[in-house]
Amino acid sequence: MSDRDDARLDQLVELVVELASGRLDRRMDVSPAGDRIDAVVMGLNMMAEELQALNGDLEARVAERTAQLHSAQRQLEQVALYDPLTGLANRSLLGDRIAQAMAHADHGAAPPAVLVVDLDGFKAVNDTFGHGTGDLLLVEVAEVLRRVVHDTDTVARLGGDEFALVVLDGEVERVLEVADRIRSALEHPVLAGGHACWVGASIGVCFSTRGQSADTLLRDADTAMYAAKATAPGTVQIYEPAMHAAALSRVRLAEDLRAALATDQLRVHYQPIVELADRSLAGVEALARWHHPERGPLPPEEFVAVAEATGLVGMLDTWVLDTAVAQLARWRAGVLGDRPFGLHVNISPAGFRSPRFADTVTECLARHGVPAGAVMLEVTETQMMGEDAQTLQSMEALRAAGIGVAIDDFGTGCSSLTYVRRLFVDLIKIDRSLVTGLDTDPHQHGVAAAILAVVDAFGLAAVAEGVETEAQAAVLTGLGCRYGQGWLWGRPQSATHMTRRLRATVAR
Ligand code: C2E
Ligand code: MG
Ligand code: MG
Repeated sequence: MSDRDDARLDQLVELVVELASGRLDRRMDVSPAGDRIDAVVMGLNMMAEELQALNGDLEARVAERTAQLHSAQRQLEQVALYDPLTGLANRSLLGDRIAQAMAHADHGAAPPAVLVVDLDGFKAVNDTFGHGTGDLLLVEVAEVLRRVVHDTDTVARLGGDEFALVVLDGEVERVLEVADRIRSALEHPVLAGGHACWVGASIGVCFSTRGQSADTLLRDADTAMYAAKATAPGTVQIYEPAMHAAALSRVRLAEDLRAALATDQLRVHYQPIVELADRSLAGVEALARWHHPERGPLPPEEFVAVAEATGLVGMLDTWVLDTAVAQLARWRAGVLGDRPFGLHVNISPAGFRSPRFADTVTECLARHGVPAGAVMLEVTETQMMGEDAQTLQSMEALRAAGIGVAIDDFGTGCSSLTYVRRLFVDLIKIDRSLVTGLDTDPHQHGVAAAILAVVDAFGLAAVAEGVETEAQAAVLTGLGCRYGQGWLWGRPQSATHMTRRLRATVAR
C-alpha cells in the first residue's frame, strides 16, 4: 500500500469515528483512483446521507409532538384558569395574580388594589330577555372591564354577574378612575343580542396593606361591594374595617335568628286595619317581633334584611304565617265566629319564588281550619319588580286557591301600572310616605288621588298605611280609600291585647 493509501485509510477511520459519534454531516471525497477504498467511502457517504435524512425526519416529528403537547397544556390551563364564557381569568387564577402582585409589592413594587364589580339589574335582563341574552351581556361587560385597565392588570369573572379586577399599580387616583370608568360605562344601556340592557354596577374597592393575604384582600373588596349594594346601588365604596365588623355582626345576627326561630323566641304582634267608612275593624296585619337576648327589641327591618340576605327569610315568614293563622283560628273559634276578618301576613319576594310556596300556604290554612279568603299575603312592590315565572306561578296558584295578595308599600318603588294589571293582586297598600303630608301638602294630595283613581279603575281596593291623624283619615275617606291602618287606630300589639280589643269591639 502506498503512503497515499495509508493517509486515505486514516481519513476513512476518522470518518467512521465521527459518524459513529453522531456527526452525520461529515463526508469524505472519493479519489480519482476509484479503487476499493473509494467503494467503501462511497458506501459510507451514502449511509451517512440516509441516516441524516432519517434523523431530520425524527427531529421534525419530535418538534411536532412537542408543539401538540404544549397546545394541549394551554387548553388544559384555559379550562382550569379561565372562564369559558368570557375568556376572563377565573377565581383560581385571580387568586394567583393577587398573590403574585402582593409578593412583588413586598419587594418594592407598588401594592395592588382589588375591585369587585357586581351588576345591579342582571336578574331582570335574564328574566326579561332570556339566559342567551344574559350570557351575551356578560361577554359585553367583560369587554368593558378589559378596556378600562392595562394589559398587565387582571380582569376575572368570579361567577354569575360578579367580576373582579386586580390593578397592579394600586395608586388611589388611578384605581378610583378605573372604578369610575366602569361605573359610568355601565350607566348607559349595553347592547346584547339586539336588546338595550340597563344594568348598573355596584363596585367595592380594597387597597392592599402589607402582609395582607390574597384571600382577605378579595374578601374585603367583596364586603365593600356589598356595602355599596346595600346603601347605594350603582356606586363605588372603598373598604373600611368597620364594614368587616358590620358584615360579621350580620352573620352573628343570622345565627342568632336561626336559634331564635328554633326556640320560639319570636313573637307576632297585630295591628288593626279599619274600614274607613265606619271605622269598624276589618282585620289585622301580623308583624314579626324579636326581643334579642343581648340587644333587646330589634326593628323588623333589621332582622328581615339579615334573614333575606342569608336565606332564612322563608323560615321566618312561614313561622309568622303559621303562628298568625293559628291565632286567627283561635279568634274565629272564640270571639270572632264567622265574621269577615282579614289576616295580613308579610311575605318576602323570595318566598314567592320558591316552588312549593302556594302549597305551604294552603297546607297551613287547612291545618288550622281557616278559610282561604281570610288571609291576605303582603309583598313589597319594589322587590317584586324583577318578578319571574316562578313568582307568577305562585301568584296564580294562590289566586286559584282564593288567597289574596297585596302590594305593600305602594308608591315607594317603580310603581308600574302594567305591573299592577298583569300581576294577580287584590289590594294595594299605599305607603306611609304618601300619607304623612296628605293634610298639608297639595302635591301629596294629588299623588294619593291619582293612585286611588288607578286602584279603582283596576277594580282593586286600597289600604292607607301609617295614618296618624284624624285629618289624614278624613282626606283618605274623601278620596275613596276603603281601608286605613296606623297609630290613629292602634299600634301593633300582642295577641293578648288584640284579643281584649276584639272582645270589646265585638261585644259592642
Ligand atoms: P310593613 O309591612 O309596611 O308594616 C307596616 C309598618 O309600619 C310596621 O312597622 C308598623 O309598625 C309601621 N306603622 C304602622 N302604622 C304606623 C304609623 O301610624 N306611623 C308610623 N310611623 N309607623 C306605622 P314594623 O312593624 O317596624 O315593620 C317594618 C317592616 O318589616 C314591615 O313593613 C314589613 O315590611 C317588615 N316585616 C315585619 N314583619 C315581617 C315578617 O314577618 N316577614 C317579612 N318578610 N317582613 C316583615
Ligand atoms: Mg306589610
Ligand atoms: Mg307597608
